[in-house]
Amino acid sequence: MISSVLPTYNRAPLSFEKGEGAWLIEADGRRFLDLGAGIAVSALGHAHPSLVAALTAQAQSLWHVSNLYEIPQQTALADALVEATFADTVFFTNSGTEACELAVKMARKYWFDKDQPERVEILTFEGSFHGRSAAGIAAAGSEKMTKGFGPLVAGFTHLPFGDVQAVKDAINPNTAAILVEPVQGEGGIRPLADADLKALREICDETGVLLVLDEVQCGMGRTGRLFAHEWAGIAPDIMMVAKGIGGGFPLGAVLATEDAASGMTAGTHGSTYGGNPLACAVGHAVMKEVSTPEFLSEVNRKAGLLRQGLERLVASYPDVFEEVRGSGLMLGLKCVPPCGDVVAAGYKNEVITVPAADNVIRLLPPLNLTDEDIAEALVRIEATAKSITNA
Ligand SMILES: *Cc1c(COP(=O)(O)O)cnc(C)c1O
Repeated sequence: MISSVLPTYNRAPLSFEKGEGAWLIEADGRRFLDLGAGIAVSALGHAHPSLVAALTAQAQSLWHVSNLYEIPQQTALADALVEATFADTVFFTNSGTEACELAVKMARKYWFDKDQPERVEILTFEGSFHGRSAAGIAAAGSEKMTKGFGPLVAGFTHLPFGDVQAVKDAINPNTAAILVEPVQGEGGIRPLADADLKALREICDETGVLLVLDEVQCGMGRTGRLFAHEWAGIAPDIMMVAKGIGGGFPLGAVLATEDAASGMTAGTHGSTYGGNPLACAVGHAVMKEVSTPEFLSEVNRKAGLLRQGLERLVASYPDVFEEVRGSGLMLGLKCVPPCGDVVAAGYKNEVITVPAADNVIRLLPPLNLTDEDIAEALVRIEATAKSITNA
């Protein structure tokens, strides 16, 4: 008999009752070090005091109003994002994949309004992930996500990740945009080289094609800059954000330049919940914490500590780990045994990691984990590696 919850997930036999910082606690008191953070969502860990305060204060005054009315909490968060980034304007969604839907619509409407309605094609990359909506699965294109779901949204061309020449060859008079994750997350923590991101920007500058970045997983301080593309010294035209932006409250956003957003006039897009007062009150509290230079420099320092320790583990346990990769606190350990086995062995050692493609386990801890948490993470990952070596 089917379970009451639609069985679309292979769930681990773990259930948490409470979270504190980088820790998740089961009903029996077992404490797990959370290096997954709900897949890069709980950027400030669990039950962060300023997020709890923002949420409860807003909950006591007003939860929801329609986007038919002014929402000051939404304006405040949009102002903060515009102030801190390339963007001139922001639309709030509830998730990453809804941000993908709008990014695709925005890019196409841009060309439609420029009297080039044939420009609808979007170049995307193998191994990418843009969520599970109709446009998201068509954009990513892998059979795992698309098979059985009927006709796909048309207009996506999939190219080898990081192959700049393939992009140059694929650009044609119908190309609307390039859509890429600066660091692939689900694809196995695969960073695009800064030089390649720069090259994509140059191609877009030369051809007018819009550069759309999916920073749903790698954004909001994850790589040690507020957004990952800053490392390459470039800016996109449109950017998708979600996951960390709500710190655990469902929230996403599309950021854009005034020009790229120019087609999205009143009535062209909408969302019932997107950017409601509760979500934006929490999102603004997250933004205030993660966008400061002090916070980001701490992310980089901690990332260095964790990475150094992981490099040591790779050297000590070559039968378990092949390499460390990634950027900032978005790290991957390429595994020798099946990565799912390594994640499961981690559970036995009370440490949570997240599997990804390319046989990689992901480490996406809360960005504010402590130095003690990092030391403990290394102890537990080492115990996990030992348990596999000895098995
Ligand atoms: C998680 C993710 C998405 C989808 O976000 P949802 O909130 O699950 O819809 C899109 N793009 C990237 C890069 C992601 O990591």
